[in-house]
Amino acid sequence: MCSRCDDPNHIVASFDRRNLLIGSAGLAATGLIAGAAAAKTTVMTSDLGPTTASAWAATDKSSFVPMKIQRRALGPNDVQMEILYSGICHSDIHMVREEWMPAHYPMVPGHEIIGRVTAVGPKVTKFRIGDIGGVGCMVDSCGYCVECLADREHACLNGMTLTYASPDKISGGITQGGYSTGVVVTEKFVIRIPPGVNLAGMAPLLCAGITTFSPLQHWKASRGMRIGVIGLGGGWGTWRSSLL
Ligand SMILES: [Zn+2]
Ligand SMILES: [Zn+2]
Ligand SMILES: [Zn+2]
Repeated sequence: MCSRCDDPNHIVASFDRRNLLIGSAGLAATGLIAGAAAAKTTVMTSDLGPTTASAWAATDKSSFVPMKIQRRALGPNDVQMEILYSGICHSDIHMVREEWMPAHYPMVPGHEIIGRVTAVGPKVTKFRIGDIGGVGCMVDSCGYCVECLADREHACLNGMTLTYASPDKISGGITQGGYSTGVVVTEKFVIRIPPGVNLAGMAPLLCAGITTFSPLQHWKASRGMRIGVIGLGGGWGTWRSSLL
């Protein structure tokens, strides 16, 4: 049964591409799909219900177990991805150990996600099936407050949604992160990854990399400038060293 509308006649498609339902309305609506190869993986998104992903989840501060989790039904602006890589950030360890805030267990960490797009909602414009996308530490924000309108979604006045351990305002429940086989994220929070790059190496850029790059860019660091770096260790330090 479809959990979006509770209609018992709705079919919930499995994550397996071969089982995805093909709809001509969806094909025409996107205007992007051409050829039989593309049609094979095109879905009529209103029929793509919640999916199950395999994941590694913390069930308390020190236990980490394999688990099945549910990803929300694909919404009109959503991108569904098969996760290819997920970096491990020390923040994940802090979160699991409740060193920053109380945890929602089971917790699937991971906020440096690289994935291949397996389905797109009808309003998605940035991605086609087969594209590579990246997801960092946030997956949603209100989109209309002054902070969001100034591209500072992390400071959203209505509260941004973290990639995991955050209430999911779209589907309810708690978000779960990248230590899993699949994810559904609204397209605004999925970054296009260009073809031909080292995807495993790209994953840590989505937290460690951007955290390092952002202040260097903000303060206009350039060759010959003297800068101070606090905490030249771990992922951030590694990236900062390689950027300088
Ligand atoms: Zn339905
Ligand atoms: Zn991080
Ligand atoms: Zn906002």
